Amino acid sequence: MKVPFLDLQAQYRSIKTEVDAAMARVLDASAYVGGPAVLAFEKDFAAFTGTAHCVGLNSGTAALALLLQANGIGDGDEVITVANSFFASAEAISEIGAVPVLVDCREDDALIDASLLEEAITPKTKAIIPVHLYGQPADMDAVNDIAEKHELLVFEDACQAHGASYKGRPAGSLADGAAFSFYPGKNLGAYGDAGAVTTNDEVDATTIRMLREHGSMVKYTHELVGWNERMDGLQGAVLGVKLPLLAQWNDKRRALAAYYRKNLPEWVVPFAAHDDRVSAMHLFVVRVQDRDAVQKHLAEHGIQTGIHYPVPIHLQPAYDGMWKQGNFPVAEKMAGELLSLPMYAELTEEAAAETCAALKAFGAAR
Ligand SMILES: *Cc1c(COP(=O)(O)O)cnc(C)c1O
Repeated sequence: MKVPFLDLQAQYRSIKTEVDAAMARVLDASAYVGGPAVLAFEKDFAAFTGTAHCVGLNSGTAALALLLQANGIGDGDEVITVANSFFASAEAISEIGAVPVLVDCREDDALIDASLLEEAITPKTKAIIPVHLYGQPADMDAVNDIAEKHELLVFEDACQAHGASYKGRPAGSLADGAAFSFYPGKNLGAYGDAGAVTTNDEVDATTIRMLREHGSMVKYTHELVGWNERMDGLQGAVLGVKLPLLAQWNDKRRALAAYYRKNLPEWVVPFAAHDDRVSAMHLFVVRVQDRDAVQKHLAEHGIQTGIHYPVPIHLQPAYDGMWKQGNFPVAEKMAGELLSLPMYAELTEEAAAETCAALKAFGAAR
């Protein structure tokens, strides 16, 4: 049995009629950039995240960068994020001229270690970007308390956390603003690149609406130097069809995660799932010794896996000279042990069982 890591075609087949019709409406109206489908999605996604405003953009990276820029963060400022994340969490900080400052992650959940934040804060620090990695919200009370004490802004990197919650409140509503990505492989994925900011701050929302559109509110009047980072009409249409299904898809992911937790051999160690949070279960990541051999064994049995992420941000070549090996030991150790098992709503329990069986066979042969 072949078990793909992710199967985007299975999902498309299940919603093809609705998606095709929604896309046809955009094409009929030639509403290619922005337009009614994007406006409708923005309204629905703001409601979904329990926020006052959603601004549709062309990527999650743009969402992070625009949140910073809209708050006047730029040259010479420092923004803190976490070493174990997708590169864009730090890249967005660099893009707008600020300096990324990293802290290590926690051993138990792979999320930002809030106890390390205070020693990373300097007079130049302006904001903190906790990442809800793999779908589980970071410890937002701890991050927000420190931010309040030092008068810093907090922006959630919620690019993997559509539909997650922390103490009953939705990801996207837990700080001064949040960035979402709708890259096709995310829990809520477009059919191309897309992203959004959610926030309760009306001024930020307005500024980001301008920044995404060449700094203009009124056509050909440019009050700011901005970017071209709008959401496409076709993406808005696809997302509008998918959003009402997200909760049930996330439920399926969580059911599969529960299955994995019950049936994995004990040498395969999942991360802690905190009682005060509901994960969107974007990725089901475990830690194993001898990771490369385990991954190879699974591949030989037709089971595709991923590594999120094989190289921590501070050791990326683009940041050569800014940090060195040994700076963030937890993230470094983890990078050699992480393994992401197949996880998507359409994955069958039979396929998850196959994955567990292949892992047990590897353990028995060792
Ligand atoms: C996907 C992702 C991003 C970037 O989103 P894009 O839409 O690809 O630009 C940022 N941070 C994290 C944690 C992500 O997973």
